[in-house]
Amino acid sequence: MSRANLDRVVSEIADEMRQRPDRGEVASYIPELARVDSKSFGLVVIDAEGHVAVAGDSETPFSIQSISKVFTLTLALGKAGDRLWRRVGREPSGSAFNSIVQLEHERGIPRNPFINAGAIAVTDVILSGHQPREVLGEILRFMRFLADDSSVAIDEAVAASEQRTGFRNIALANYMKSFGVLDNPVDFTLGVYFHHCAIAMSCRQLAMAGRFLAHLGRNPSTGLSVVPPERARRINAVMLTCGHYDGSGEFAYRVGLPGKSGVGGGILAIAPGKASIAVWSPGLDASGNSHLGRIALEALTKRLGWSIFGA
Ligand code: GLN
Repeated sequence: MSRANLDRVVSEIADEMRQRPDRGEVASYIPELARVDSKSFGLVVIDAEGHVAVAGDSETPFSIQSISKVFTLTLALGKAGDRLWRRVGREPSGSAFNSIVQLEHERGIPRNPFINAGAIAVTDVILSGHQPREVLGEILRFMRFLADDSSVAIDEAVAASEQRTGFRNIALANYMKSFGVLDNPVDFTLGVYFHHCAIAMSCRQLAMAGRFLAHLGRNPSTGLSVVPPERARRINAVMLTCGHYDGSGEFAYRVGLPGKSGVGGGILAIAPGKASIAVWSPGLDASGNSHLGRIALEALTKRLGWSIFGA
């Protein structure tokens, strides 16, 4: 793939997306997220050589929301190793990101680390033995290190907005606590969860942060290892099967890459061995995934032949 070709495809797709009238609905259950301009669109692809192809609002920070769950999973696996899987499963849920129904049947063990209940359990694992403030500092330092950018920050207004209105997540956490799945005080675990969801990053920063997943656990530009190759492969597998909630099958069918969405409208997608990709368009589809983001990624993998399932 020549650089010029990659640049051309990325800017063509951004132009096409700009002209589409169907943009989905911006999330409003977190009031602060509803203030975002629904016409925003950014796309960044960083290839194995470190070439950065950008289009649209690629430098505008947005709320990464559930995309943060990829990075908290990485930290929790680093801390607990395979013991993490006693607290959380790794099967697709087939239900909404904030669903509570499966928790009763499965005695408080969430289906996977990317639905809200699972991510709250993962956050609880990272929190054990630390104060919430220390853990948030650790998560933020990790994101800054991966993005190679010390300006990555938490949007306190978004965190406070979710803290005020996060009744479902509060219910999920209390329900898990009743089964003994959370070790820390519910308020502490949720405080860390709401804040890591409120990390703001641009498409460029996010694509940088995802590079280790595309390249066997290490950043190919710096040579620094983040996780062993086997762990990167497994995180990608969970992203493929669970990264888009009840839309994970559709995303695999249309895009064919491991990916993780957030209700802020971002998607991080990984083309193993080839590239780390971040797209942002705030309007969501019925499953809570970026509507145009998915369409843009479908166009990208089709034109570049990047689906992991072949052309
Ligand atoms: N912070 C959001 C929530 O817990 C994350 C959900 C998402 O991005 N899908 O509801």
